[in-house]
Amino acid sequence: MNNTGNTSQNNLQVFSWNSLPEVLKSILPQNYSYLIENFNELPSYRTTESFIIPQFELDVFVDIDNEEKAREWFMAFESKSKTTMPKTKRYEFKGKHVLFCEMRHCIHSDKVKKKQGSREINRQQSSWLRNTNCTSTIHLRLERWRIELSHPLEVNIKFTHNHVIISAESLSFRRVNEKVRERFLELFKDGHSPASAMYTHEDELYLSAADEQELLLLLADRASNPDYDYIFNLFRQYRQDSLGDRNGSAMFRRLAEVVNDYNNSGKGRAILQEYDSRSGKAFILCVVTGLMSRVHEKILQSSEICYMDASASFEPLNTSITLLYTSCAVGALPFGLFITSDELEITLEKALNLLKSILPQHSFYGRGAQLGPKIFLTDDSSAERNALELCWPESIRLLCTFHVLQAFWRWLHNSKHYINKADREPIMQKMKEILYAPSDLEMHKYYCEFKQRFYGQYSISSITQTL
Ligand SMILES: [Zn+2]
Repeated sequence: MNNTGNTSQNNLQVFSWNSLPEVLKSILPQNYSYLIENFNELPSYRTTESFIIPQFELDVFVDIDNEEKAREWFMAFESKSKTTMPKTKRYEFKGKHVLFCEMRHCIHSDKVKKKQGSREINRQQSSWLRNTNCTSTIHLRLERWRIELSHPLEVNIKFTHNHVIISAESLSFRRVNEKVRERFLELFKDGHSPASAMYTHEDELYLSAADEQELLLLLADRASNPDYDYIFNLFRQYRQDSLGDRNGSAMFRRLAEVVNDYNNSGKGRAILQEYDSRSGKAFILCVVTGLMSRVHEKILQSSEICYMDASASFEPLNTSITLLYTSCAVGALPFGLFITSDELEITLEKALNLLKSILPQHSFYGRGAQLGPKIFLTDDSSAERNALELCWPESIRLLCTFHVLQAFWRWLHNSKHYINKADREPIMQKMKEILYAPSDLEMHKYYCEFKQRFYGQYSISSITQTL
């Protein structure tokens, strides 16, 4: 047995890596020499993406005499050949004559169970991990008796991939190209979020690729197309470096610059009050865009009615956004908005006064910023209503009927007020009649009926107080 092996190897030609045929150079690791027993070139395969994949069978011996080096060689092989070949069968080391033995199939083979969820698989990679019933295999075997020979490690390769062999696995671990990293920083500077920067960058890759082959490579390669985690972390780092804390002084300096640029752009106007916890100054940012300015100028209803509504819980600092708008035939149209760090009356009053200072001359259809619109419609918020009264004392403040009825409905159903269940519905009905009465006279009539029917039973004064 020993002798046969020895003799057969002696008859084989030793190739330094440099002297290998080109096709083998492209897959076999450098810095080793090879004893080729069998090299059988097969007709090459054309993938659906028009990649030409060389096909061959190779039986070869490598100058490696221990398991550790054999594993090293295999890793170099995966990297060099851009293939991913997971282990598919564990051979029993029968007796002591086998030191190392592994059978591996291509990741696109049906022999390989795809480990979903073991690592985040991104959009591009998932299509690369599809099963194409690839038949490519590699078999490594190191037998004890061969160790004395010049080339002990036996390798049998069936290079019969039926798909693009550039492996998403290996490409997805590549370091992100420095130029790509800089491009992302540029996108962040232009105001992109991590997600929008990722989409913009992908679009750029689509445009830059000369053909489909190049595009596939660019998309799968982490060096040119980093994953979302990388982009998100880069963004966090960028924000930390350039803006500091969300509430830090660097952030407000940057915001002041943005406001300044906006005011110089001619697109609209904005004004800022910096947050200062020591002096108790709330954060306020008021904006009147070009569109808002035109609504003041062109829409008749601007002089008549202004709705004011605040919403919050949009971001981690939970700032409140208050929108002022009017309504006309096309629906709601905006007048202006302000963002505040709280909803206290003193903050809202300051915010409204700041907003007044940036309203256009022709605001409220020519009534002007000082006079304001005829009517304000608000939620049942005393802070809002009081602030409006201080800033626009001439205007009438109304509650929206929806909020009035809602508040009344809650009052009726509150057990503290001892309203009989059976009475709740008729009281609500009467309340609606009063609210929707088309004239003073009728309203008075409904009010009297209301008193007559429920007087004595309940303290009417407490009911009417809620109106
Ligand atoms: Zn394959």
